[in-house]
Amino acid sequence: MEIACLDLEGVLVPEIWIAFAELTGIEELRATTRDIPDYNVLMKQRLGLLDQHGLRLPDIQATIATLKPLPGAADFLDWLRERFQVIILSDTFYEFSEPLMRQLKWPTLFCHRLITDEQGKIVDYKLRQPDPKRESVKALHTLKYRVIAAGDSYNDTTMLSEAEVGILFHAPQNVIDEFPQFQAVHEFSDLKAAFIAASERSLSL
Ligand SMILES: [Mg+2]
Repeated sequence: MEIACLDLEGVLVPEIWIAFAELTGIEELRATTRDIPDYNVLMKQRLGLLDQHGLRLPDIQATIATLKPLPGAADFLDWLRERFQVIILSDTFYEFSEPLMRQLKWPTLFCHRLITDEQGKIVDYKLRQPDPKRESVKALHTLKYRVIAAGDSYNDTTMLSEAEVGILFHAPQNVIDEFPQFQAVHEFSDLKAAFIAASERSLSL
């Protein structure tokens, strides 16, 4: 039995924080795990900037509601879900992802939660567990699933290592160079072919 695990931002949808930075003009909010591999350091910086600029959760949600999945992403996900059980493993937050998950027809999503006060100010965040992408793949292994995983960045590499097959998709060159053990593809057509090649079953495009 096989399960496909996908990263969300950079694979199926835009980087939410970058889109938010562009709309608000807060340049420092553009930083992602591509720039700062330590997720906790990155999140402390983000929450500090939001507080500094007086931005609350409803402001961020209104911005996210204007975003669309990446071109071809919804069709790719439909294709994948016809052939595999699919779980999205993301370091985003349920509070942020809802408008985008609606456009992707609500695939299963494992991610994190934000903690807000009564005014909607984001005061903290709750990570489900340390190294959640790797732990999710390990948990699927205890359920006797074989895992094929794809992601674009540093925060995906433990997931890709733990999976039977790990694929880099839309990854920047520095990640591709640092993790040459993973096949790297850039188009959804090539990602489909990589999933088919990685599967134990005989599947077709
Ligand atoms: Mg990503």
